[in-house]
Amino acid sequence: MPNVKDRLITVEADARTPRIVAVDDDAGTLAALRVALTRAGFQCAPHHDPRAGLAAATEPGVDALIVDHRMPGLSGPELVRRARAARPDLPVVMVTAYASLEGAVDALRAGADEFVQKPLDPEEVLGTLRRLLATRPKRRVLAIGAHPDDVEIGVGGTLLSHVASGDDVAILALSRGANGGDPERRVAEATEAARRLSASLMLGDLDDGSIPEAGLTVALIEHAVSLVRPDTIYTHCAADRHQDHRAVHQATAIGARTVGEVLAYQAPSTTVDFRPTRFVDIGRHLAGKLHAIGAHASQTEKCAYLAHELVRATARYWSRFCTASYVEPLEVAREASSVEPPRDLTNAEVSDVAA
Ligand SMILES: [Zn+2]
Repeated sequence: MPNVKDRLITVEADARTPRIVAVDDDAGTLAALRVALTRAGFQCAPHHDPRAGLAAATEPGVDALIVDHRMPGLSGPELVRRARAARPDLPVVMVTAYASLEGAVDALRAGADEFVQKPLDPEEVLGTLRRLLATRPKRRVLAIGAHPDDVEIGVGGTLLSHVASGDDVAILALSRGANGGDPERRVAEATEAARRLSASLMLGDLDDGSIPEAGLTVALIEHAVSLVRPDTIYTHCAADRHQDHRAVHQATAIGARTVGEVLAYQAPSTTVDFRPTRFVDIGRHLAGKLHAIGAHASQTEKCAYLAHELVRATARYWSRFCTASYVEPLEVAREASSVEPPRDLTNAEVSDVAA
């Protein structure tokens, strides 16, 4: 029995360039900020109009906000209060014009995490920003599918929403989907789909159509869990006509036993017994989900269930159970408040499980 690591192709996620929104009515300060941020490898969206800056700051995928204290029309503190209402965890640096205790207190009261004083020292701003980004809470997410396109169909929008919040996302596809086409092409498509989701990818080599619900499936999931150490796992639901999907659901229950939150997603072969109780708003990520599904061209060419209209209509249908317009439905398979930490399996243990 080869080592479980040898059964996986692993593709790391591209390093994401952090996106910073900078808002200042002073053109000179704004230009200096943009130059310093861009040189340091950040992506900077500069805004001199505070209302446009507020709209930009609450978009998904924004990693931090730098905002001036005094601006006409909408003050820095008020902008921060409104941005925080939409994005409570958005890191915020406020720029205050004068070295007074009052300015600092005002900035922090408004909800800014840090403040820096004018005249701006670019190094101080960058140092403050890096510190904030390094300490923000971040979740680790693992999405498991039997075949290369399952995760994109079930939780593509949810994964993009995790990425937009700064979370790390990994995908484990347990087979290369040989029944659906040339495995080499499917590996290339899965790699491109993961890239479009800004996720890392692990591809197993289990036999499409006869994925076992124990043994190597469990070992591969345990191995992925030991690498990713996820807070949340997405996997197939049990109510599914496809035997591979049911097997992966069963194997996840064992392989992910140390993970606190396990949520089960819908597949095209899911039956009417699928009973979701959690609905993730994917309105801002529906286009991204369709783009990721589009990477699986060998499947979209022939599978009617991948038609954009049906994917969109499905997301729209489930919104009847909540207040959003487009959602992905999830069953809660496990929600634990305290769990033992995941541990690495030894080779001997992996052989035992796989035997
Ligand atoms: Zn599948």
